[in-house]
Amino acid sequence: MMHPDARLTVVNEKIGVGLIANKRIPKGTITWCRDDLDLVLTRKQVKTLPKLARQTFQKYCTRMNDGDYLLNWDNGRYQNHSCNPTSCLLPGFDCEISLRDIEEGEQITSDYATYNLSKDSAWACICNEPACRGSILVEDQAERLNELFQLVAKAQQYLKLVEQPLDFLTPHFPGNRTMPRYPRTFLTRLRDDLGRRFSK
Ligand SMILES: [Zn+2]
Repeated sequence: MMHPDARLTVVNEKIGVGLIANKRIPKGTITWCRDDLDLVLTRKQVKTLPKLARQTFQKYCTRMNDGDYLLNWDNGRYQNHSCNPTSCLLPGFDCEISLRDIEEGEQITSDYATYNLSKDSAWACICNEPACRGSILVEDQAERLNELFQLVAKAQQYLKLVEQPLDFLTPHFPGNRTMPRYPRTFLTRLRDDLGRRFSK
Protein backbone atom coordinates (compact mmCIF):
# COMPACT_ATOMS: atom_id res chain seq x y z
CA MET A 1 0.00 0.00 0.00
CA MET A 2 1.28 3.42 -0.93
CA HIS A 3 1.54 6.29 1.51
CA PRO A 4 -1.84 8.10 1.57
CA ASP A 5 -0.21 11.35 0.41
CA ALA A 6 1.02 9.77 -2.83
CA ARG A 7 -1.12 10.93 -5.72
CA LEU A 8 -1.29 9.44 -9.19
CA THR A 9 -0.81 12.09 -11.84
CA VAL A 10 0.65 12.70 -15.29
CA VAL A 11 4.26 13.73 -14.61
CA ASN A 12 4.91 14.85 -18.16
CA GLU A 13 4.32 13.65 -21.69
CA LYS A 14 7.56 11.70 -21.90
CA ILE A 15 7.43 9.95 -18.53
CA GLY A 16 3.66 9.51 -18.43
CA VAL A 17 1.99 8.83 -15.08
CA GLY A 18 3.74 8.67 -11.74
CA LEU A 19 3.24 9.31 -8.05
CA ILE A 20 3.77 12.72 -6.51
CA ALA A 21 3.54 13.84 -2.90
CA ASN A 22 0.31 15.64 -2.07
CA LYS A 23 2.12 17.22 0.84
CA ARG A 24 5.59 17.02 2.32
CA ILE A 25 6.63 13.48 3.27
CA PRO A 26 9.49 13.65 5.79
CA LYS A 27 12.71 11.67 5.51
CA GLY A 28 12.39 8.27 7.16
CA THR A 29 8.72 7.79 6.28
CA ILE A 30 7.63 4.40 4.96
CA THR A 31 6.31 5.31 1.51
CA TRP A 32 5.17 1.81 0.55
CA CYS A 33 4.50 -1.27 2.61
CA ARG A 34 3.34 -4.67 1.45
CA ASP A 35 -0.15 -5.61 2.59
CA ASP A 36 -2.48 -8.55 2.29
CA LEU A 37 -4.43 -7.10 -0.65
CA ASP A 38 -1.36 -7.21 -2.90
CA LEU A 39 -1.51 -10.00 -5.45
CA VAL A 40 1.32 -12.53 -5.20
CA LEU A 41 1.86 -15.12 -7.95
CA THR A 42 4.54 -17.75 -8.38
CA ARG A 43 6.60 -17.80 -11.56
CA LYS A 44 4.61 -20.83 -12.70
CA GLN A 45 1.31 -19.02 -12.15
CA VAL A 46 2.54 -15.99 -14.09
CA LYS A 47 3.51 -18.26 -16.99
CA THR A 48 0.00 -19.70 -17.19
CA LEU A 49 -1.68 -16.28 -17.49
CA PRO A 50 -3.21 -15.43 -20.87
CA LYS A 51 -0.72 -13.42 -22.93
CA LEU A 52 -2.32 -10.01 -22.52
CA ALA A 53 -2.84 -10.45 -18.79
CA ARG A 54 0.74 -11.72 -18.42
CA GLN A 55 2.21 -8.76 -20.29
CA THR A 56 0.33 -6.27 -18.12
CA PHE A 57 1.14 -8.17 -14.94
CA GLN A 58 4.84 -8.29 -15.84
CA LYS A 59 4.90 -4.60 -16.67
CA TYR A 60 3.75 -3.60 -13.19
CA CYS A 61 4.85 -6.41 -10.88
CA THR A 62 8.00 -6.61 -8.80
CA ARG A 63 9.97 -9.75 -8.05
CA MET A 64 10.45 -10.57 -4.41
CA ASN A 65 13.43 -12.19 -2.76
CA ASP A 66 11.76 -15.59 -2.66
CA GLY A 67 11.23 -15.47 -6.45
CA ASP A 68 7.47 -14.82 -6.36
CA TYR A 69 5.96 -11.82 -8.11
CA LEU A 70 3.98 -9.11 -6.37
CA LEU A 71 1.50 -6.78 -7.99
CA ASN A 72 0.47 -3.77 -5.94
CA TRP A 73 -3.29 -3.59 -5.67
CA ASP A 74 -3.23 0.21 -5.43
CA ASN A 75 -1.31 3.00 -7.18
CA GLY A 76 2.00 1.68 -5.89
CA ARG A 77 2.43 -0.07 -9.22
CA TYR A 78 2.87 3.32 -10.90
CA GLN A 79 5.95 4.37 -8.94
CA ASN A 80 8.59 5.46 -11.42
CA HIS A 81 12.29 4.80 -11.52
CA SER A 82 14.82 7.55 -10.91
CA CYS A 83 18.62 7.44 -10.95
CA ASN A 84 18.35 9.86 -8.00
CA PRO A 85 15.38 8.33 -6.16
CA THR A 86 13.47 9.86 -3.28
CA SER A 87 12.63 6.45 -1.83
CA CYS A 88 14.30 3.04 -1.57
CA LEU A 89 13.60 -0.52 -0.52
CA LEU A 90 14.41 -1.25 3.09
CA PRO A 91 16.65 -4.33 3.01
CA GLY A 92 15.06 -7.33 4.64
CA PHE A 93 11.59 -5.77 4.65
CA ASP A 94 8.79 -5.54 2.12
CA CYS A 95 8.62 -1.77 2.29
CA GLU A 96 10.24 1.40 1.01
CA ILE A 97 11.49 4.39 2.97
CA SER A 98 11.90 8.04 1.95
CA LEU A 99 15.60 8.90 1.66
CA ARG A 100 15.04 12.60 2.22
CA ASP A 101 12.15 15.00 2.68
CA ILE A 102 9.90 14.64 -0.36
CA GLU A 103 8.39 18.05 -0.96
CA GLU A 104 4.82 18.66 -2.09
CA GLY A 105 4.58 18.08 -5.84
CA GLU A 106 7.79 16.04 -5.98
CA GLN A 107 7.79 12.52 -7.38
CA ILE A 108 8.06 9.47 -5.16
CA THR A 109 10.57 7.31 -7.02
CA SER A 110 12.78 4.30 -6.54
CA ASP A 111 15.90 3.07 -8.32
CA TYR A 112 14.74 -0.03 -10.20
CA ALA A 113 18.31 -1.32 -10.13
CA THR A 114 17.68 -2.14 -6.47
CA TYR A 115 14.84 -4.46 -7.44
CA ASN A 116 15.23 -8.11 -8.32
CA LEU A 117 15.88 -7.61 -12.00
CA SER A 118 16.36 -10.66 -14.16
CA LYS A 119 19.76 -11.08 -15.79
CA ASP A 120 18.56 -9.87 -19.19
CA SER A 121 16.67 -6.81 -17.89
CA ALA A 122 17.63 -3.57 -19.62
CA TRP A 123 15.66 -0.35 -20.04
CA ALA A 124 16.48 3.06 -21.39
CA CYS A 125 16.12 5.63 -18.60
CA ILE A 126 14.30 8.91 -19.10
CA CYS A 127 14.39 10.15 -15.50
CA ASN A 128 16.14 13.35 -16.58
CA GLU A 129 18.20 13.61 -13.39
CA PRO A 130 21.68 15.17 -13.75
CA ALA A 131 23.07 11.84 -12.54
CA CYS A 132 20.95 9.79 -14.97
CA ARG A 133 22.75 6.64 -16.07
CA GLY A 134 20.81 6.52 -19.34
CA SER A 135 19.83 2.91 -18.76
CA ILE A 136 18.71 0.56 -16.01
CA LEU A 137 20.74 -2.61 -15.98
CA VAL A 138 21.10 -5.49 -13.59
CA GLU A 139 24.85 -4.70 -13.52
CA ASP A 140 24.03 -1.38 -11.82
CA GLN A 141 22.71 -3.24 -8.83
CA ALA A 142 25.79 -3.82 -6.69
CA GLU A 143 27.06 -0.26 -6.96
CA ARG A 144 23.65 1.35 -6.45
CA LEU A 145 22.82 -0.84 -3.50
CA ASN A 146 25.99 0.16 -1.69
CA GLU A 147 25.28 3.84 -2.16
CA LEU A 148 21.54 3.80 -1.59
CA PHE A 149 21.56 1.53 1.42
CA GLN A 150 23.88 3.91 3.20
CA LEU A 151 21.24 6.59 2.62
CA VAL A 152 18.61 4.12 3.82
CA ALA A 153 20.54 3.56 7.03
CA LYS A 154 20.55 7.32 7.66
CA ALA A 155 16.84 7.69 6.81
CA GLN A 156 15.99 4.77 9.03
CA GLN A 157 17.15 6.75 12.06
CA TYR A 158 14.04 8.92 11.59
CA LEU A 159 11.68 5.96 11.38
CA LYS A 160 10.25 6.38 14.86
CA LEU A 161 10.47 10.18 14.85
CA VAL A 162 8.13 10.91 11.95
CA GLU A 163 4.48 10.20 11.30
CA GLN A 164 4.00 6.72 9.83
CA PRO A 165 0.51 6.36 8.32
CA LEU A 166 1.27 2.81 7.16
CA ASP A 167 2.29 1.48 10.56
CA PHE A 168 -0.96 -0.49 10.83
CA LEU A 169 0.29 -2.82 8.11
CA THR A 170 1.75 -5.40 10.44
CA PRO A 171 3.57 -7.73 10.18
CA HIS A 172 5.33 -6.13 7.20
CA PHE A 173 5.80 -2.69 8.72
CA PRO A 174 9.32 -2.52 10.18
CA GLY A 175 8.55 -0.58 13.35
CA ASN A 176 7.54 -3.67 15.24
CA ARG A 177 10.63 -5.65 14.45
CA THR A 178 14.26 -5.32 15.38
CA MET A 179 15.99 -3.07 12.88
CA PRO A 180 19.60 -3.42 11.82
CA ARG A 181 21.52 -0.41 13.11
CA TYR A 182 24.47 0.00 10.81
CA PRO A 183 24.98 0.13 7.04
CA ARG A 184 27.37 -2.80 7.27
CA THR A 185 24.54 -4.97 8.57
CA PHE A 186 22.38 -3.96 5.63
CA LEU A 187 25.12 -4.73 3.19
CA THR A 188 25.89 -8.11 4.69
CA ARG A 189 22.25 -9.07 4.56
CA LEU A 190 21.98 -7.76 1.07
CA ARG A 191 24.99 -9.67 -0.17
CA ASP A 192 23.45 -12.81 1.30
CA ASP A 193 20.16 -12.05 -0.48
CA LEU A 194 21.90 -11.42 -3.76
CA GLY A 195 23.99 -14.56 -3.42
CA ARG A 196 20.86 -16.65 -2.89
CA ARG A 197 19.06 -15.00 -5.77
CA PHE A 198 21.77 -15.47 -8.35
CA SER A 199 22.60 -18.99 -7.27
CA LYS A 200 19.06 -20.10 -8.19
ZN1 LIG B 1 17.94 7.95 -15.09
